[in-house]
Amino acid sequence: MKTTVMSPKDSHASHKNEPDNHEANSLVQRAVRQILSNIGEDANRSGLRRTPERVAAMYNELTRGYQVDPIAMVNDAIFEISYDEMVLVCEIDFYSLCEHHLLPFFGKAHVAYLPRGRVIGLSKIPRIVEMYARRLQVQERMTVQIADFLQEVLDPQGVGVVVEATHMCMAMRGVEKPNSRMITTALKGRFKSDPRTRSEFLAHIDRQRS
Ligand SMILES: [Zn+2]
Repeated sequence: MKTTVMSPKDSHASHKNEPDNHEANSLVQRAVRQILSNIGEDANRSGLRRTPERVAAMYNELTRGYQVDPIAMVNDAIFEISYDEMVLVCEIDFYSLCEHHLLPFFGKAHVAYLPRGRVIGLSKIPRIVEMYARRLQVQERMTVQIADFLQEVLDPQGVGVVVEATHMCMAMRGVEKPNSRMITTALKGRFKSDPRTRSEFLAHIDRQRS
């Protein structure tokens, strides 16, 4: 089978910075072509001819969270403010890929923290979720990573993260339960130790649902 190897020069990909990227990209394309022929497809028929190229580009997009420098992302958006009530961002839509099957899992994240003199620009919280979602993930780890990161950059009195998601690897294959959702929670500081803080957080999320 003939494989077209793209060189940095003749590629018309938009980011033409690193030759490494192009080599990796063409390896992914070759692997996708291999999958197509292994499942019994004709990788050269017209509908599939550019599929390896599309899939390689898609994986770059769906895993771009690896390229984000989290500290640089939030650096200009942390403010010293004497506000010590709960800050909560609900219903943050996200799409991720499960690392076991490379199938999507997607749903909503709810993120809250209790400041200790320091707050973060509101738009950054969905960005943080996005950064961790756009990687190969397991939902439990993603939930904890979001909480840990906020704890680290804000040193708040506490952080609460709830993630609810549908996993295509459970819906389409395996147990084939399309309507089951998985809910994971990470609680830190006052969200863990103070039942009132925790129930305030969970009550807010419930209110959004109804
Ligand atoms: Zn899976």
